[in-house]
Amino acid sequence: KQLANVGVRNLSPYQAGKPIEELERELGIRDIVKLASNENPLGISPLVKAALQDTLAGLARYPDANGFYLKSKLAKKFAVDTAQITLGNGSNDVLELLARTFVNDQHEVIFAQHAFVVYPLVTQAIGAKGIAVPAKDYGHDLPAMLAAITPKTRMIFIANPNNPTGTFLTSEALHDFIRQVPANVLVVLDEAYYEYVPEAERAPSLEWIASFPNLVVSRTFSKAYGLAGLRAGYMVSHPDVADLMNRARQPFNMNSLSLKAAEVALDDDDYLHKSIAVNAAGMQQLVDFCERQGLNYIPSYGNFLTIEVGEKAGELYQQLLQEGVIVRPVAGYELPRHLRVSIGLPEENETFIRALTKLLG
Ligand code: PMP
Repeated sequence: KQLANVGVRNLSPYQAGKPIEELERELGIRDIVKLASNENPLGISPLVKAALQDTLAGLARYPDANGFYLKSKLAKKFAVDTAQITLGNGSNDVLELLARTFVNDQHEVIFAQHAFVVYPLVTQAIGAKGIAVPAKDYGHDLPAMLAAITPKTRMIFIANPNNPTGTFLTSEALHDFIRQVPANVLVVLDEAYYEYVPEAERAPSLEWIASFPNLVVSRTFSKAYGLAGLRAGYMVSHPDVADLMNRARQPFNMNSLSLKAAEVALDDDDYLHKSIAVNAAGMQQLVDFCERQGLNYIPSYGNFLTIEVGEKAGELYQQLLQEGVIVRPVAGYELPRHLRVSIGLPEENETFIRALTKLLG
């Protein structure tokens, strides 16, 4: 243990759940409803499934190390240059790659309290100092984050919407923030849940990169595109940032299946629209339930809702499991009174609602 980097030694392990089949076996329950990882409840799109089938024959070959077709499609769809794109094995991969490329153990990295766990993780693994700025109304306190910048600050993570709180920063607030960040500090705008944000409220973040070369934007195929198990994510940045990241990147960090799936998913508008519609309806279903029950919840722009269930949140999580529903405890995010529930299909949401109603008495 003494041989490990100090940062790594002090990391707490990422808390991943057991395989669902194993849980079902242990609990003696069939058809567990999993609303724990902000996955897409629709399952994989039929178009992607067919394309994957066609890709199998080529799997003895290495994948395209530059992701030529996927980058071309992304560039066209989002009106950016292919030289601005870095692909990754999920967006976690590009977030980590970015930190590895730009941050060292002399630096500080700023993120918000209750922000996505991967930010402190990648920061600490490098031996850099993570600065968690206290949240405001569960969300990012942008003025406080600006005030936390020191000469050592190299990077600031902003998740918009944030996980696990679902909080959202307006385009104006974000722009005003980025404008005030010194040019030698990278602003990482993590838009993993971007597609769930109503179009009128989305920030034109990719357009901002032309004026702010220190802005990088990460997105994923894991949520609205339904490819969490395949691992596909990307980052859009100034070409110089992408160039450096692509030097540090493992050449085959996206495999042939995930490349193909992402290409097809990007064109599959029907699936995307359905994902967004199912999410909006499910969100309403859960919000209505909270209102009926008099439960506080954090209004969410993502595909999940974080509900205040009180001091027995940990116990309720276990009891829900016994009822065949997996949600996510968020005590590790300094939210010990809340549980995060991912939006499922209407009947899955109903199963959760029934179980929680029963347990709350
Ligand atoms: N950012 C945020 C805010 C997330 O919630 C997640 C997924 N939980 C990710 C990034 C990473 O997703 P992936 O690695 O699957 O792209």
